[in-house]
Amino acid sequence: MRVTFHGVRGSTPSPCPENQGYGGNTSCVSVEVEGHEPVIFDLGTGLRRLGRRLAGTFDGTMFVSHLHWDHIQGLPFFTPLQEASARARIFGPRQESGTFREALERFIRPPYFPVTLTEFPGRIEIADLDGAAGESVTVGELEVTAGRIPHCGPTNGYRVTWRGRSVAYVPDHQQSPDGRIADSVLELCRGADLLIHDSQYTEEEFSRRSDWGHCTVEYAVAVAVRCGVRRLALFHHDPAHDDGVVEELVTAAVACASRFGIEVVAAREGDTLEVI
Ligand SMILES: [Zn+2]
Ligand SMILES: [Zn+2]
Repeated sequence: MRVTFHGVRGSTPSPCPENQGYGGNTSCVSVEVEGHEPVIFDLGTGLRRLGRRLAGTFDGTMFVSHLHWDHIQGLPFFTPLQEASARARIFGPRQESGTFREALERFIRPPYFPVTLTEFPGRIEIADLDGAAGESVTVGELEVTAGRIPHCGPTNGYRVTWRGRSVAYVPDHQQSPDGRIADSVLELCRGADLLIHDSQYTEEEFSRRSDWGHCTVEYAVAVAVRCGVRRLALFHHDPAHDDGVVEELVTAAVACASRFGIEVVAAREGDTLEVI
């Protein structure tokens, strides 16, 4: 599997010279295997970047973790959907007050955006995927399973498996005050070859924002250790963290995780990781 980061930033797009090394686009990750359209996780502004790279008619599957702006804002700018023959299936968590589809359609319509999703030339199919029930979707040879993740509002993490290899995707995750890891997170991440995990805060930042829906880099390492993952990609970098801060955080995480035989990298826009 080839895992490519098209957007790695948390919360809001934040392009500026100080963070261009890791990138300012928000969450979007593709997973590709031979003979498949990429499976896409989250539709942040990085999705626009991916859309410019894809060739041919798009016929693909997208999984949204939750409906915060930084995870869906790129969808209207995904140019492959400007073709009438294009087709996208989009899955996401059911909302407390209705379906995922209803909530997404409320966001992409006037006055927030000039047109509705049904006015896009390409065909867009939207459906709930219940993480609490561990629902899964098969896409060719890939199986994608959803798990409910503690965050702000209904949020899915995902695990994609292919020929015995697995990638877990947990972009936004509220760390509990006592550091206990939710069973659903343990289940989703257990034994993953690659874990892509929220790493928004330092310990000091978390002490001031402990209920903002995120976690520390140390917690991300703790999840990786507890779940016995092979490789951890720090993800959802705070918009206030410039390249120097991200470097410091990943250096500290590498030192901590290497004792457990876990490789750690900081997700960087444009980078591809091979999972073999
Ligand atoms: Zn986010
Ligand atoms: Zn969020």
